[in-house]
Amino acid sequence: MDEKRPIGRSAFLRHGLAQLLGKLVEGLEQVQEQVVPRRFRPPGAQSEPEFLATCQRCNACVRACEPGILMVMRPGHGIATGTPYLEPHSGPCQLCPTLPCIAACPSGALRPIPLDQVRIGMAVLDPVTCIAFHGQQCRVCLDVCPLPGKAIAFEENLPRILEDRCTGCGVCSFACVAQPTAIRIRHL
Ligand code: SF4
Ligand code: SF4
Ligand code: SF4
Repeated sequence: MDEKRPIGRSAFLRHGLAQLLGKLVEGLEQVQEQVVPRRFRPPGAQSEPEFLATCQRCNACVRACEPGILMVMRPGHGIATGTPYLEPHSGPCQLCPTLPCIAACPSGALRPIPLDQVRIGMAVLDPVTCIAFHGQQCRVCLDVCPLPGKAIAFEENLPRILEDRCTGCGVCSFACVAQPTAIRIRHL
C-alpha cells in the first residue's frame, strides 16, 4: 500500500508561494475592475460615487441629447460600464436651455439645476498657448461662451476664467483658435 510521503520543506514553500501569487493576481484583477479613468458627466450629475450608485444605465439622457455629445461607457469599465459621459474638448455640452438630458433622467442621477449652475468641470487657460497673451487680438472664447462676462471675461484684452461661474461645458476649449487649444477642462 502506498503511503503518502510527507511534503518537503521546499515543496511546501513553493506551494505556499504559488497560492500567495494566485491571491495577489486575483486581488489586482478586482482592483482593476474598480479603477476606471475619470469621466466628465452630464449636467446635473452629483459626485462620482453618488452618480455611479444612482444611474440606472438606461441611457435616456443620451437619447435625449439632441447635439449627440453624450456617450456611453463601453463594457470593460467595471462599475462605470453603461454610464453616460462626455468629452468637452472634442464634443462640448451645448447647455441646451431646457436641459433635456436632466429632464429625461428617471433615477435622479441627474438632478434638476438652473443652467448657470451646471458644473461639468472647470476651464483652465494656458497663457503660454493663448494668442491674446502674445499680443494678438482674439476674443473667440468670450464670443462662444454661453455665459459671457460671467464665466469668462476680458481684462485689458486678456481672457480670464471666472471660476465660480464656469460650467466646464468645453465650448470655449473646442472653439479656441490656438493650436493646441489654450483652454483645457479639468475635473472639479
Ligand atoms: S445640455 Fe444639451 S448638449 Fe449638454 S448634455 Fe444635456 S442635452 Fe446634451
Ligand atoms: S438617464 Fe439618468 S439613470 Fe439613465 S443613464 Fe442617464 S444618468 Fe443614468
Ligand atoms: S468659460 Fe468655457 S467652459 Fe466655462 S462656461 Fe464659458 S465656454 Fe463653458
